[in-house]
Amino acid sequence: MYICDNCKTRSAIFFQRHTGRRLCRECLEADIITRVREQVTRYSMINSSDTVAVGVSGGKDSYILLYILTQIMPISKIIGITIDEGILGYSRREVFENVKNFCKNLGIECVYVTMREALGYSVDDFMKLYLEIQRENPTVTPLSACTYCGIARRRILNIYARQVGATKVATGHNLDDEVQTYIINILRGDIIRLVQLHPLSKTHNPKLIKRIKPIRSIYEYETSFYAYILKYPYQEYECPYIEARPTLRVKVRELLYEIEKTHPGVQLKLLEFLDNWIQHLINTQIASLPLCKLCGEPTSPGRDICKFCELIELIRRKQRF
Ligand SMILES: [Zn+2]
Ligand SMILES: [Zn+2]
Repeated sequence: MYICDNCKTRSAIFFQRHTGRRLCRECLEADIITRVREQVTRYSMINSSDTVAVGVSGGKDSYILLYILTQIMPISKIIGITIDEGILGYSRREVFENVKNFCKNLGIECVYVTMREALGYSVDDFMKLYLEIQRENPTVTPLSACTYCGIARRRILNIYARQVGATKVATGHNLDDEVQTYIINILRGDIIRLVQLHPLSKTHNPKLIKRIKPIRSIYEYETSFYAYILKYPYQEYECPYIEARPTLRVKVRELLYEIEKTHPGVQLKLLEFLDNWIQHLINTQIASLPLCKLCGEPTSPGRDICKFCELIELIRRKQRF
């Protein structure tokens, strides 16, 4: 039995690889909350007037995020939004019941939205039609379910956050997710997306609610362990679409894990470096975003029709025949 390297009194239950310390449960929790608070303060993520809508997927990171927010801000100013993606075998009633109970126990109001009702197509509906289109016309670019799911989830969170009067949208992206996305955008040479990822990036349109990622400096191995000791009833099933996950992300993830094994802490250092570096680019960004001609939601610079409508139009055209 090891003694906690921090308090030197309680027994350690966790080896924090990136600091080389053994920690007890209390010190691990305190360390995680301090690091979240540090990010929140440093980037002014949450102010006293903010109401925060939290995307609660039922996965471990969303539970951790929700719980930590209750520790650092008034509970009455947190609203959970849970999205039923409509993925057979994955979006299960049990998961949403767990989310509902979890929110209730914390005293948080929680909104339940289905992708099909909100946007017309669940992930399964969309993918079924898209794959048919692709089979009929091989020139149509392959699309992973994660792409549609990501766009659709962001859209629903933004629309519902606006409806409930939230001023921020929080998501449970952890350090690993955040560094991977930074690297992917660097590899693609996508400076606009790279800058948009920065916690201080601007929304460029009043219809877009500012997104925040309070747990972005916490490693996935830490959120996993934390969720495990808190005995959260998190979603353990893997999404059936995982096989078709964007391959670049998988490669970047594996590469970073490999480096992290021999150089613990490297992802944290990378995040710190990229945050500081990209911060200089924020004011060189575009001043405002155009609105999509079809749905009226903000879209990327140079676009008439947003990516979401582009995908949906393709599906609708198919349904008309
Ligand atoms: Zn301790
Ligand atoms: Zn649109």
